[in-house]
Amino acid sequence: MSEPTVFTRILNGEIPGEIVAETDRVFAITDISPQAPLHVLVIPKTEQYRDVAELAEGDPALLAEIIAVAKRVAAEKADGEFRLIFNTGPKAGQTVFHVHAHVLAGDLEEKSLIG
Ligand code: AMP
Repeated sequence: MSEPTVFTRILNGEIPGEIVAETDRVFAITDISPQAPLHVLVIPKTEQYRDVAELAEGDPALLAEIIAVAKRVAAEKADGEFRLIFNTGPKAGQTVFHVHAHVLAGDLEEKSLIG
């Protein structure tokens, strides 16, 4: 068995993290290194999918649920407008291989990119 990811460890309460939304299958946390006024990660509770391409193939309904939670968090914590980023692969800036959506909202710099 491989080690649980940092996100699973936050979900399990093993390391600190601010959970800002949760459904049966998805949770959302505040990013520890925010790149925008609102920077939340929306994450499936399962760590079986490494990236969004695997998730889209394996469970498109779960991907849709991630997007629905992103929309809800952006509406509750910002003005409802948001940028959604899925870094996919190390060269694209992915560092945690447990699929997650970056939700950026607030006044975004045009050039703001993650990774
Ligand atoms: P990525 O580089 O797309 O894989 O995104 C990983 C994100 O996880 C980065 O934006 C990190 O700042 C964030 N991150 C890493 N560790 C933690 C943590 N303990 N709590 C909250 N966010 C974290």
